[in-house]
Amino acid sequence: MSSAPRYYGVRLGWWADDANCIGEDPKIFNNNKRTAQASQTAQSICNACPVALSCLRHAVANGEPDIWAGTTEAQRKNRKYVQFLTEEFARAKKR
Ligand code: SF4
Repeated sequence: MSSAPRYYGVRLGWWADDANCIGEDPKIFNNNKRTAQASQTAQSICNACPVALSCLRHAVANGEPDIWAGTTEAQRKNRKYVQFLTEEFARAKKR
């Protein structure tokens, strides 16, 4: 199975094989290179992703920069927001 360019050099779990961002331009998710349009594109890709819950957990646990699970690094530092999103993703049956 192929890996998304943004994951180069990063060991992820099983869930990455089902990531909706596989094959997408990594700049879309890079905080420093994103335009407003890229932000919207990243958001829509993540909104439709079946493994957003695992992605969010990975990003929080590993202190990832950039956009993961449709969230910014600053948003992931907000524990209440992460808890809210975790419950939302679980309700939406995301893995
Ligand atoms: S939630 Fe977004 S960043 Fe995470 S795996 Fe899915 S598409 Fe990629």
